[in-house]
Amino acid sequence: MPIIKTEHLNYEYSSGSVFHKTAISDINIEIEQGEFVALIGHTGSGKSTLIKHLNGLLKPTSGKVFIEGQDIWSDPKNLRKYRFMVGMVFQYPEYQLFEETVYKDIAYGPMNIGIPESEINERVMKSISFVGLDKTILSKSPFDLSGGEKRRAAIAGVVAMNPKVLILDEPTAGLDPLGRDRILREINEYHRNNNVSIILVSHNMEDVANYADKILVMNDTKIVLNGSVSDVYCHAKKLKEIGLSIPQIMEICLGLNERGIPIDPLTTSVEDA
Ligand code: ADP
Repeated sequence: MPIIKTEHLNYEYSSGSVFHKTAISDINIEIEQGEFVALIGHTGSGKSTLIKHLNGLLKPTSGKVFIEGQDIWSDPKNLRKYRFMVGMVFQYPEYQLFEETVYKDIAYGPMNIGIPESEINERVMKSISFVGLDKTILSKSPFDLSGGEKRRAAIAGVVAMNPKVLILDEPTAGLDPLGRDRILREINEYHRNNNVSIILVSHNMEDVANYADKILVMNDTKIVLNGSVSDVYCHAKKLKEIGLSIPQIMEICLGLNERGIPIDPLTTSVEDA
């Protein structure tokens, strides 16, 4: 059974008003336990809206979200449980750090769900080690950390909730290449050691190819491609070899050629593209 499944998921902002805007349409996806999935697509294609549905932060306008086979909206009392099972790291999560010390910040989530004190300490220690921070950092103010350290401390706060699925929205945005590689390696290690499913929202095809088992490509509210890295990326790799730029490859993966004419990236040959 997939850990997350959606059926005909649609969402419209400001539904029923003149400002209504369809953000996702007819999304049917399945994520298996332990799978590393990348979600890519242009700005505005619907990625953030989709991930906010996967732990009940947004209620579908129509369609369903299942976690471990349960329709998460069938009983809203259970939503809290699903929000812990599916941890969400938003873009620039460091802006959400607010406690006096890094320790308190990471411990905040587990404390709020009544985890015993002794276990909280264990979770904080485990989480900072996952994100590669030294324990000397725990007594510092989060505001005294470097950019990369802040980012990792914020991710540790979500990891401390022991989620079964970890969703990260552009976790490397704004980091230098070293900081970027480090965070991705740590996420991948965490995924491998704990059989946690990862959904990584990314603009970077290289990150995606290095780590993901499966790629979902969104364009204009829809999933236009859902396949293994080799299905999607082998094609993109060939395109790169013949000198196309990453934005051009993205265009092709998103199903449009340079003239805006839809093409099928799995069947179109390099020459055609
Ligand atoms: P992405 O994460 O791929 O950039 P989003 O899910 O943020 O895409 O946005 C999808 C569409 O929904 C875009 O057209 C965006 O302008 C619109 N949208 C996003 N948030 C809101 C909102 N709060 N109110 C109205 N429209 C929104």
